[in-house]
Amino acid sequence: MISVAIDGPSGAGKSSLAKRLAKELGYLYVDTGAMYRAIGLYAKRAGADTKNAAAVEALLPSIRLELKYVDGAQRVLLCGEDVSEAIRAEAIGMAASDVSAHPAVRAFLLDAQRNMALTHDLLMDGRDIGTVILPNATVKIFLTASPEARAKRRMLELRQKGQPADYETVLEDIRQRDWQDTHRETAPLKQAEDAVLVDTSELDLEESFAALKSLILSRVGQEKEKARRAEVR
Ligand code: C5P
Repeated sequence: MISVAIDGPSGAGKSSLAKRLAKELGYLYVDTGAMYRAIGLYAKRAGADTKNAAAVEALLPSIRLELKYVDGAQRVLLCGEDVSEAIRAEAIGMAASDVSAHPAVRAFLLDAQRNMALTHDLLMDGRDIGTVILPNATVKIFLTASPEARAKRRMLELRQKGQPADYETVLEDIRQRDWQDTHRETAPLKQAEDAVLVDTSELDLEESFAALKSLILSRVGQEKEKARRAEVR
């Protein structure tokens, strides 16, 4: 199976690029952030303190999380309810970052994420895919951009959705999430040693897409060639 791991901070363009790349290359797209967001949403709705590990852990047995694919697009079902839109709220991003720091939450999602890679060619994006979930991924990419470039993009995205936001507030939210994601004890956001770093601060979406596509195709080609040679021998 082919697995492409794309990690990086929020707002680097991971999900829009990953979604398009998966479609173009014919791989299943797995947005692991959506899984943490769904748990964040569940905890918020339950009125739990998302920073409290014990409180969040106590909720896990009642959480039923499923990923469904409709025309290749991932939908997230939380206890049977499609929460794909609800999990996109800014407040839920922060709740996701809070709950994702708890080891019990990470353990809860680990097998589900790994198992998908056993049965599908896939492109998975997140924070710890290349380091923890799929250490033997065919291709590992660490996608990043400066906090300022990411805040600008996030502003545009919010404006397009009719949710205008203040630049300083968005930038602050990004910085705070970066800090939380890189400083937590369990599976912090960091570049895997064998990941290729791609910085999109100066690239637009098309340029980023082209760079990633050629990187993935060349790596996958090399792997296939290696496998072919091993077979011949
Ligand atoms: O990627 P997205 O912004 O949707 O992720 C929401 C939050 O979930 C991130 O800020 C991060 O804290 C957490 N996350 C994680 N590990 C992943 C994916 C997301 O900790 N593999």
